[in-house]
Amino acid sequence: ATLTLGTELAPTLTGETTLGPAERVATGDRPTGGLHLGHYVGTLQNRVRLQDLGIPVTVIIADYQVITDRDDIGPLRDRVRTLVAEYLAVGLDPERTVIFPHSAVPALNQLLVPFLSLVSDGELRRNPTVKAEAMASRQNSTSGLLLTYPVHQAADILGCGGTLIPVGKDQLPHLEVARLIARRFNDRYAGGETLFTPPAALLSSAPVVLGTDGAKMSKSRHNSIALGAGADETAAVIRAARTDSERHITFDPARRPQVGNLLTIVGALSDRDPRDVAAEIGDGGAARLKQVTTEVVNSALAPIRARRAELLADPSYLDAVLVDGIAAATEQVTGVLDRVRAAMGMDYL
Ligand code: ATP
Ligand code: MG
Repeated sequence: ATLTLGTELAPTLTGETTLGPAERVATGDRPTGGLHLGHYVGTLQNRVRLQDLGIPVTVIIADYQVITDRDDIGPLRDRVRTLVAEYLAVGLDPERTVIFPHSAVPALNQLLVPFLSLVSDGELRRNPTVKAEAMASRQNSTSGLLLTYPVHQAADILGCGGTLIPVGKDQLPHLEVARLIARRFNDRYAGGETLFTPPAALLSSAPVVLGTDGAKMSKSRHNSIALGAGADETAAVIRAARTDSERHITFDPARRPQVGNLLTIVGALSDRDPRDVAAEIGDGGAARLKQVTTEVVNSALAPIRARRAELLADPSYLDAVLVDGIAAATEQVTGVLDRVRAAMGMDYL
């Protein structure tokens, strides 16, 4: 099967999927707290699959973007190290995958200047994810940084040469901005040549994992199952998750979102169709569904949790991974910036 690179529902990636020869993966996370199950099935599993297919992967730790919607930057140094430990624990391999914090590669920010010239304020203000994040933030006005967040993200993606972007569904509007900027840059500043390939979003089979409150599982909402949580804590969170009163379990996410969410999680972690999981549970009801979910989540996360704890005990190794990542990313992004400057007639040296 050929992967249709669209921004709508890209198919779930399988080992048989054939990809273009020049595919590069770029994606990332904000260091706003530990990663959770939504990250794992929404994007991390696909990052590891793509890496294991031999595609170059770059993971951007978006530390500047922490301050888009909050005043308090938090314990950044520790959070960045924890992210690195979690990436390696889920199977990203620093020998093959570049991991770096974007503040450490200033060339990325230089892309922001021409990119900002390519979008209008109206386009930025209409972005539904920016609107949702502005509403969710504790601030009573939208910062200029939050408004231009998608442009900053486009600089990350295009600066790292990303063509295939494994993300959750909340990121699709941002990806649309990156595609727009790529096309407009090519038209306006590169004489119609493809200096930037419009990047395609790759969604997983679980593009929006819900948290215990029924909203998107998020670090900032305290509604998640953290990768680093203990098995008992995980069991308690799943036990307390809202479901519904229908005894017979069916997979019908539009009508039964909470039940559908647990079935989707089980499906993504055990490589099964959520409909088959539902059929197996049948009249076992919500109690059996939660029991199955707890078993599947805890057994999938057990080795990740053990490896995470080992890695966290060695902060100097985690820092060394970042140092290597920063060097590799600087080389990549500087090359892109040089081509941008040359296209714009700014190659003075
Ligand atoms: P914050 O609440 O601080 O924004 P977050 O939990 O939304 O944190 P991000 O760092 O914003 O996490 O997102 C990183 C990546 O993980 C993005 O690709 C995003 O789409 C994906 N992701 C985050 N939460 C989920 C979820 N609940 N389901 C699927 N994918 C998710
Ligand atoms: Mg987010």
